[in-house]
Amino acid sequence: MEVEKQTVSFENTEIAFIYKSNSELKRAWWLFSLMNNNLLVKIGTRITPKLFDIGLPIKGLVKPTIFSQFCGGETMDECAVTTKKLSDHGVETILDYGVEGKENEEEFDKTANEISKAIVFAGYNHHIPFVSIKVTGIVRFALLEKMHERNDLNENEMAEWQKAKDRFYSVCKTANENNVGLMVDAEETWIQDPVDELAMKMMAEFNKEKVVVYNTAQLYRTDRLAFVKRSIAEAKAGNFYLGFKLVRGAYMEKERKRAQELNYASPIQPDKDSSDKDYNAAVTVCMENIERVSICIASHNDSSNLLGVELAMKKGIASTHPHLNFSQLYGMSDNITFNLAHAGYNVSKYVPYGPVKDVVPYLMRRAQENTSVGGMSSRELMLINKELKRRKN
Ligand SMILES: Cc1cc2nc3c(=O)[nH]c(=O)nc-3n(C[C@H](O)[C@H](O)[C@H](O)COP(=O)(O)OP(=O)(O)OC[C@H]3O[C@@H](n4cnc5c(N)ncnc54)[C@H](O)[C@@H]3O)c2cc1C
Repeated sequence: MEVEKQTVSFENTEIAFIYKSNSELKRAWWLFSLMNNNLLVKIGTRITPKLFDIGLPIKGLVKPTIFSQFCGGETMDECAVTTKKLSDHGVETILDYGVEGKENEEEFDKTANEISKAIVFAGYNHHIPFVSIKVTGIVRFALLEKMHERNDLNENEMAEWQKAKDRFYSVCKTANENNVGLMVDAEETWIQDPVDELAMKMMAEFNKEKVVVYNTAQLYRTDRLAFVKRSIAEAKAGNFYLGFKLVRGAYMEKERKRAQELNYASPIQPDKDSSDKDYNAAVTVCMENIERVSICIASHNDSSNLLGVELAMKKGIASTHPHLNFSQLYGMSDNITFNLAHAGYNVSKYVPYGPVKDVVPYLMRRAQENTSVGGMSSRELMLINKELKRRKN
């Protein structure tokens, strides 16, 4: 008799927090309780970057708290301890050099170099199948903005863009040589076109025989489901594999504010349901084309992750199919990650690393996402409470 396949449950907190000691769990509880306070997060996210800027010694406060909840370490070696701990429980890593907002050529070279080093490091560590890159880490934001607007570049800008393309090409080549996937993050809509064009070009070059380069689609944008479908058609026509990380998107407030201030139609979906609907439609269309598209379901949403599992079961796609990947941010939704790993799916944590003061923009986005407005912290608190109670009994 054929055994009926079970869908995955995200309720088991023993599996979810298996890698956390009691004191680590209590620290996470305390942190999510603080983030549940909207006013505190509002003030904290405004003043923390300024306190670092003026050189106040607050690293001692940030590192053992919000930093250690959401980041793997300050260096790659520190991070290795975290990634090893995850891999002991079947969870892989997307390594992210989390430094943001440094805007000069020397820093761009340094970042490209650091990412290449991370790729080589990942090449030796089978539990790190992916490294991520933000294109704003290797080229000036204002230049991307100008290109997005299709304005002509002057001679200096053309040289600057060529250098950025060279950096990007070299990172992709290193990823190819080391058999590591490179995930290109999506950022603000007003710089995204040149990023998409670059990512597609690199996919056409490096994704002929395997999937090296992944682009990201933010489904909180009204135009991204069509973009996903168009990209699949282009990959088929060009006979290369498409890599796609699917996210809802992390810059909603900023996007809406800018659209209002500059008086253009917001590129963001009118409501959460619309974002959810397009997200799930994108998961479905990618999985219908799983032989051509390698997908990363990058989400903390139970339903979207379950959709991936259910479609896999329905379509007979193995849980270990190399084109089916799930991922959550380090420090969030362990119930999804560890229960997926326990059920045998390819699942990873997105683990940023870098000097504490340089990853502050990333940390501030996580704090905002975990306020009670974002709705995430109350869910995390409920799960941690459940596990602490279970461990007491
Ligand atoms: C591995 C990984 C990689 C990531 N990479 C990127 C990246 O490259 N670029 C990026 O931008 N983000 C990235 N993110 C962050 C991601 O965008 C947020 O974590 C995500 O938006 C939170 O949504 P969720 O899918 O977890 O589900 P939920 O918690 O169900 O959804 C919350 C999201 O829904 C959307 N939303 C909420 N309210 C509304 C509303 N009223 N109207 C319309 N939409 C709404 C917003 O996007 C919000 O963040 C990444 C996340 C992961 C896990």
